[in-house]
Amino acid sequence: MIRTKILATMGPACSTTETLLSLFEAGADVCRLNFSHGALDQHLKMLNTIREAASKFEHPIAILGDLCGPKIRLGEVADIDQTGGMPIKVGDELIIQRNPIVGRDGRVSCTYKNFVDDVAVGDRILIEDGMLRFVCTDKNFNEVACRCTIGGILKSSKGVNLPNTTINIPSITERDWQCTDWAIENDLDYLALSFVRKPEDLNLLREHLRNKDSDIQLIAKIEKVEAIKQIDGILDAADGLMVARGDLGVEMDVAQVPIIQKDLIRRCQTAGKPVIVATQMLQSMIEEASPTRAEVSDVANAIFDGTDAVMLSGETSVGKFPVGAVHTMAHVAEVTEDYLISSAVALPSTGPAPTTLRYSAAIAAGVYRIVRDLKVSLVVVWSQTGATARIFSKHRFPVPIIALSSDRRALRRMALHYGVVPQEMAPPANMGELVAQVDLLVRDREFATLGQRIVIVAGAALGTPGTLNGILVHTIGEETSNLPAVPTILEIGRP
Ligand code: PGA
Ligand code: MN
Repeated sequence: MIRTKILATMGPACSTTETLLSLFEAGADVCRLNFSHGALDQHLKMLNTIREAASKFEHPIAILGDLCGPKIRLGEVADIDQTGGMPIKVGDELIIQRNPIVGRDGRVSCTYKNFVDDVAVGDRILIEDGMLRFVCTDKNFNEVACRCTIGGILKSSKGVNLPNTTINIPSITERDWQCTDWAIENDLDYLALSFVRKPEDLNLLREHLRNKDSDIQLIAKIEKVEAIKQIDGILDAADGLMVARGDLGVEMDVAQVPIIQKDLIRRCQTAGKPVIVATQMLQSMIEEASPTRAEVSDVANAIFDGTDAVMLSGETSVGKFPVGAVHTMAHVAEVTEDYLISSAVALPSTGPAPTTLRYSAAIAAGVYRIVRDLKVSLVVVWSQTGATARIFSKHRFPVPIIALSSDRRALRRMALHYGVVPQEMAPPANMGELVAQVDLLVRDREFATLGQRIVIVAGAALGTPGTLNGILVHTIGEETSNLPAVPTILEIGRP
């Protein structure tokens, strides 16, 4: 069982129940619906297939909807001389005009109608993840003229990045609101917002969710320089971050990306929030059955950095080896985690100090010490809302954390947290009953065997947040009937 969580992007390459089940069995924990592609009825079909496959699988599977945000795309471009688009070479002039047009003869349009207003002479215009590059040389009310600095073939709907331009597109577009409402109606677990620029972008979305009584968790995708500048506020406003290296590497100096990755992971560690490392992790596996050495190192290094999760994009959505890619990722994670656990230097001794949930954090720190000193093989924690599981996850225990809850939504959310194994259980009447049920469960699921020592963490009022106060060291198979009726063994003073 690996601790690192794997996100798989959905698409035609994994659209059957059988393939999805294979992805889950290979180690995928979270399915990502990318709203940048496809109509909502296609996503609904995919969602139903995911739910069907998930119902046949033993662990909860979370579903993340990914909102496009203010992404600019090229309009339609004609296929010139069967090149698949419009060829352009270094030094050529390209006109990007305000009114929509089918691109040809050095003239195209894009999906952002105020493009001409926002771009200034000297600004850089990057197309298709920066594969084609231009500099704005002139403009008037109707069009922008630019000179090509790296050529290639301009193709329909490819992404446009403007790293030097402040764009005036709303952070949440009409389409994003539609997708958000769809996500609420269909009870998705996470929503990621692309191109977040400021905390208000997330607050706006959060307010909308609240008004609709939804507690979908928000992931801020960090892929703009503006976001890096306001990272404290953004992390405060979000439930987690994604290191969106694809656009980030285009929007700023690509050499900064590994440093930003480490910095964002460290910030999430301190804040007690999950973090996902995304894009091009096993890119070559879109076409090839085995990864490059550099890709394997990249996955391993993200885990060394302390990420909760690693993401696959095209590898699972349109690639030739979706199951192979998940397998590879899981295998790299397994080997890396084994090394981390066995090498004393890598064991983290300090946990997060989040301002909220300080209580859970203190208990987690204590349990960490018990696990380290008493040869414990498993930590079991009652986490009704998932918040305690999230905090425990950040302590990087050398053993798995079984997180119990009776709330299926909370259990699905836990699928994103490093080292957490979500497990459904009806709330037991008292600690004695909990211990008995846990004892049965861990033996049944082969999480631990007879005579092994485990730690059980729970509160007086199971299921009531903020009541966590009991730590019990239990030996599997040992008599539990003489436990006191009071559901705590080790009382810790309330804050
Ligand atoms: P995307 O986001 O795949 O939606 O563009 C991830 C990234 O930019 O890395
Ligand atoms: Mn992106």
